[in-house]
Amino acid sequence: MHIALVSLFPEMFDAVSDHGVTGRAVKQGLVEISHSNPRDFTSDRHRTVDDRPYGGGPGMLMKIDPLQQAIAAAREKAGKDAKVIYLSPQGKRLDHGKAVELSREQALILVAGRYEGVDERLIEAEVDEEISIGDYVLSGGELAAMVVIDTVTRQLPGVLGHELSAQEDSYADGLLDCPHYTRPEEYQGKLVPEVLLSGNHEQIRRWRLKQALGRTQERRPDLLQGRSMTAEEEALLAE
Ligand code: SAM
Repeated sequence: MHIALVSLFPEMFDAVSDHGVTGRAVKQGLVEISHSNPRDFTSDRHRTVDDRPYGGGPGMLMKIDPLQQAIAAAREKAGKDAKVIYLSPQGKRLDHGKAVELSREQALILVAGRYEGVDERLIEAEVDEEISIGDYVLSGGELAAMVVIDTVTRQLPGVLGHELSAQEDSYADGLLDCPHYTRPEEYQGKLVPEVLLSGNHEQIRRWRLKQALGRTQERRPDLLQGRSMTAEEEALLAE
């Protein structure tokens, strides 16, 4: 997948392109990341990318021209069919389903706003979709774009070491993940649940499913509403 970033602060993205799971995906060529900086598409001495809002009010807005040219440059790198996403607190809230959907795209162009946002006409002309990472306001779209990159990359085939890892994560099957334990077997008097030491894979699978169901019911009952349960899940939840 090609992910083209349109941002005034490309260096911020080193956090995802150089480290961890996403960094490995980039090194392996499973994800290609490119940058287009609106500041490189200015023509004045000060390389101005912002201007005052019509109608007055606090703060500045990103100007259309440098942004539009940066998006055009991103399209050249990512391909003309790339989906253009503007990270915005007014967008559709990102969730697991959206991450899976985006992971099926060939290419994404992620546009990070700054200041008080961007001129509305730029959104109308260039953007396919607006995505928010939550009901709060960030100072810029870069962190939100990195959240999108991370969660989408995890869904790409071959990215996670163990093929089942992504399927077992919280939300993948509509449930929260079960609790996990590693060595030592005893920590401050607390023992690892015995079933996990049993070597009985079927019992372990059932225990994990029961824990995931219980946790979801306790912490996020909303996830269970509208989720169809298997007969086994119904029975485990009722136990
Ligand atoms: N005035 C804008 C509003 O209230 O809708 C907020 C502008 S915010 C200070 C600057 C930029 O940060 C936005 O253009 C957007 O790209 C990004 N941003 C802020 N909060 C976000 C969120 N929750 N999700 C995604 N992007 C966000």
